[in-house]
Amino acid sequence: MVRISFWRYFILLILLTLSLFAAKVDHKKWKKGQDFEGYLEKHGISTAIVDALDKDDAQLLSEIDQNGRFYEMVASNGVLLQALIPTGEELQVHLFRSPEGYKLEIIPIAYKKDTYITQLAVESTPYSDIVKYVKNRLLANEFTKVLKNSVNFRGIHKGDRLAIVYDQKMRLGLPIGTPDIKVALMDTKGKRNYVFKHSDQKYYDENGQELIKKYLGKPLRNIRITSPFTQSRFHPVLKRWKAHLGTDFGARRGTPIMAAADGKVVFSGWKGGYGNVVEIQHEDGYKTLYAHQSRCKVRIGQWVKRGEVIGYVGSSGRSTGPHLHFGLYKNGRAINPMQMVKFSSKGLGGKGKAAFLRRKEKYTKIIDKIFDENRPSYVWNTVEERAVPPTMREFYQKRGW
Ligand SMILES: [Zn+2]
Repeated sequence: MVRISFWRYFILLILLTLSLFAAKVDHKKWKKGQDFEGYLEKHGISTAIVDALDKDDAQLLSEIDQNGRFYEMVASNGVLLQALIPTGEELQVHLFRSPEGYKLEIIPIAYKKDTYITQLAVESTPYSDIVKYVKNRLLANEFTKVLKNSVNFRGIHKGDRLAIVYDQKMRLGLPIGTPDIKVALMDTKGKRNYVFKHSDQKYYDENGQELIKKYLGKPLRNIRITSPFTQSRFHPVLKRWKAHLGTDFGARRGTPIMAAADGKVVFSGWKGGYGNVVEIQHEDGYKTLYAHQSRCKVRIGQWVKRGEVIGYVGSSGRSTGPHLHFGLYKNGRAINPMQMVKFSSKGLGGKGKAAFLRRKEKYTKIIDKIFDENRPSYVWNTVEERAVPPTMREFYQKRGW
């Protein structure tokens, strides 16, 4: 009896190895509306592996990019061997088959982050010239967004010049994710307009005046942050990568949750680790998400006003106690809510103002130098290099398959 099962196991291993050689890697598109559990069921995998995850990782599964791309490695007999599914900009779900069954882990997406410099003379518009010469549409978007309140774009003429210093993640030679503009300069007929990003993630002009005019409102009357937004960090105790794509606010069960801005309810109901969720689509590509509610008060398709009560704080889904998980998305990408929600009415003052002035001085020197040297775009310095996770084949070879 023991002998047979040993040989069975041995043959199975050989078959697996053979099937690996015939396996093919597919670059697929995630089916809109499909949740991770549905994906597992499709491949005949028990959803119990999700229950084994901790709450943060399980919540991350609700962040799988709908319509996003992912990798699958499937054996010739149709058995799924591995899948790499991005959740946000930095981390991905790694689902793989092992001799003990399927396993899940959260691993970083390989990328290289550098500080780049772009400097060019306008031919038609800043937007179209950045797209044409830098080949980065998101940079063109960001540049237009951060300067639109201080520069009259209709007053820009051929020959006016711009310069941008920004951090950008690159993958396989292409930019991924939203560029992080540190300082931008638009020179129109010799008049220089600067924009600086401060350590509070907000943009200011030379005088320390905030440049974003429209802020989102607070989702709760009283704000107490219990867990901040992080795209990814390595947990030193758990020795694993974690992400938290929203800001958590502590509040008592039943506390009313308010819409951060006018908009249309695009989701209201249960969403995996997030429990009872409301999602509101706003103008300019912004979307807000309010998770772990005890009860949602609005329906899909309903229009809501800023400040309108949309539900109540609870602890539904993967949550350890009553709180609001507040998510903010720009064109489908999770961004830090602290960037767009005005939590205090005070502008820069005292220490904040002094820190801003020091930062401003440093960045003004950098960008003026770039601008005056009039050199084409180049990489400034290497900020961070993220180790490339093993390729699928290496992964299996390492495990002696
Ligand atoms: Zn949260």
